[in-house]
Order: sequence, then structure tokens, then C-alpha cells
Amino acid sequence: MEFNRPLPPRRKTRQVTVGNVKIGGDAPVARQTMTSGYTYEVDQCLAEINKLARAGADLVRVAVPDKRDTEALRTIIPNSPVPIVADVHFHFERALEAIEAGVHKIRLNPGNIQDRAKVRRVIAACKERGIPIRVGANEGGIVERRDKEQRAAEMAELDKDYAAGLIRIMLDKLDEYLRIFEAENFHDVVISAKSPDPRIVIDAYTAISQRYDYPLHLGVTHAGPPETGRIRSILALGTLLANGIGDTIRISYAADPVHEVEDGKELLCCLGLRPRNEPELIACPTCGRIEVDLFKLVADVRRTIMQEIKIPLKLAVMGCVVNGPGECEGADVAIFAGKGRGIIYVQGEQKATVTEDRMLSALLHECRVFAQRVAAGEAKLIGGKASDVVIRPPAPLPRADGSLPLPVGG
Ligand code: SF4
Repeated sequence: MEFNRPLPPRRKTRQVTVGNVKIGGDAPVARQTMTSGYTYEVDQCLAEINKLARAGADLVRVAVPDKRDTEALRTIIPNSPVPIVADVHFHFERALEAIEAGVHKIRLNPGNIQDRAKVRRVIAACKERGIPIRVGANEGGIVERRDKEQRAAEMAELDKDYAAGLIRIMLDKLDEYLRIFEAENFHDVVISAKSPDPRIVIDAYTAISQRYDYPLHLGVTHAGPPETGRIRSILALGTLLANGIGDTIRISYAADPVHEVEDGKELLCCLGLRPRNEPELIACPTCGRIEVDLFKLVADVRRTIMQEIKIPLKLAVMGCVVNGPGECEGADVAIFAGKGRGIIYVQGEQKATVTEDRMLSALLHECRVFAQRVAAGEAKLIGGKASDVVIRPPAPLPRADGSLPLPVGG
């Protein structure tokens, strides 16, 4: 059996350019999100875009329901650290205004703009400036609303087999929409076909990937709060990405969008689709053996060390002597705790024993020193193929009676 094998190759797609970000082709999977505030509140909108970009967003989408929003784009776009996507529904004029303001990409649902001549005007304006358009055939609003006969037929199909019927309708609508774009010889298209049901998302995008070579924007729509939406999103997006499908992702939660970016980043790092540029945190779940406040220590590590140290060192935070030494073995910097103190190791070498109140500061110190040594070429990261460091597993701490604990599942 082959272990840790590489993922199937990424599906070959066309490439589009969104400002300084490429989507599709051989470009890395792009992470995107959407602001939650009003676009016309320029200062707040820019503050949110900056926060999301710092968290790792490659692109940020903003809603432009009103003219005051597209007017705000004239200030937002030149001051944004990342390309901006305008989210347009119903009013094609907003798309034209956003393009005029210099937006880098348009999200358009042709199903919401009945007059095809208006869609063609948006396509012409994007073509002139080399701006791509995301075409959405998402579950919400995909069923025909105006034509009663067609609506009845689609509803009957959904009644018979909801998932199969929905995917068939999505594919038909996409065909219809893409014919408009292709008739204008416009191919800078990104496709999305989202649903709140992760199984439908997997099947819909898989079917689309077999039919078109346009890059795909993956997402689970209306996924809910992070506590439940995280499972839905990672299940669908992780499955698709692990099978080579997907060129940009947006995880969406009913919460601060910074969580969307953080989770998207972690997902891509776990799949090896984007390099990690901050510590990889390994921490035990704690159990009845715990003798320090490990949850607080882990939260403090995330707040401080993860923010400051910008190299992908493996950082282990373990609750006791049982599994602590084992995890320390495979970590660059590690701490394991017991009886109100912590033992810190750097690549298997014991560096310090500190009291609980000093665990965070001592760990941060060792991370800083280690990061400096890596930067100076004096140390190499574990896990990287380049590592030739010989790891000496630390000895477990003996119990008070001198006996050694046996490792158990952590
Ligand atoms: S046994 Fe494992 S889970 Fe329990 S405190 Fe120790 S390291 Fe953590």
C-alpha cells in the first residue's frame, strides 16, 4: 500500500486574470471571501478588506446593490491590497459602473438579468478591459420563476429526485448562460454551482468539471455558522480538491468572514495545495491526566506565536508526560506539561523546564530563537525534505514514584 501519495493531478482549466491573481491553469488555488459590511461605508469596507487580506484572502468580493456602492469602488479599489470582485444581482448598470471604477472581476448571475442584451453589454465592457466574469448557477434561485410551465416541470423533476433533478437543472442553466458568453467569443469565465448540501456540491462540480474547462469557484452556500458550516464546507471542498477539482474557494459562514479565510487557508495547507507560512500547531485534546490549563495555553499560542512567527515550524503543545514526549519527537518546538510545569524541547533537545505561568513566554522565546536559526541557515525544519536533523526522542518524565508511563492514545 502506498502512503502519503500525492493528490490526483489538478484538472486542466483555462486561466483567467483577476488583477494580480491568476485563477485556473497552473495557478495555486486562490482563497476568496466577501465583506460583510456596506460597501458605501468606504473606511469600514477598506478596514475589513485589509483585515481579510492580512488573514490570507487573495481576492475580496463586495456587494454593489446601489450606485453609492459602485461609486465607493473608485476609492476602495486603488487602496485595496488585493483585487476586488463586484457582486452584481438584478441591475446590470451596477456591473457597468463597477467596471468603469476599475473592478477586477464581476460576479453575475444571468438568471437574475432577463434581458440578454443587458448581459451582452456587461460582457462587452468586461471583454474590452480583460475582466473575467463568474457565472453562478447556484441552488438558490436556479428554478425557473417566470415561465409557469417550465417551473412546474422543474418542480416535478425535483420532487422525483431532488439531487439529480437539481444538478440536471444547474447543468442546463449553465449551458444556456455559457452560450451567451461564447456567442460573444468571451471565455474569461469562472463557474460556480453551489448548494447548502455538500453531497450535491460534490456531484454538481464533478459533473461540471467533466463538461467544461473553465476554472471552478468552489463553495457551499448558506452553510450556516462555523460550528456546523465548517463540516459542510470542508467535506465538499476537501473532497473536490483532493480529486483535483477546484481553482478558487470561498468558504461561507454566518459569522465574521475572517473565519472563512482562516479555514480556507488551513484546508489548502492540509491538502498540500498552498504552502504553509506560519507554524503548524499540534495540540492534544486533553483528558483526565491534564494538570495545567492547556486550552488557555493553546489559545494564547494561537494569539501570539502563530501571529508572530512566520515560518512553518511544527509546534506541539501537549498536556502530559504520556503522549508529550512522542509528539515532541516529531516537532520543531514542543512543550509538554505536567504538575504545573512545562518541559520545552527544540528538535528533540530539552531546552527548559518552566512553571505554568512562564510556559507561553518561554515557548515564544524558543520559537523566536529557532526561527532565527532557520533564517540564518543554522537549522532546518522537520518534515521538509531538506531536513537532515537527527531527532532524539525525549525521555518521558517519570511519575512521582519513579515509574515511567506507557504511551496511550491521546
Ligand atoms: S494523555 Fe494525551 S490527551 Fe491526555 S493530557 Fe496527556 S497528551 Fe493530552
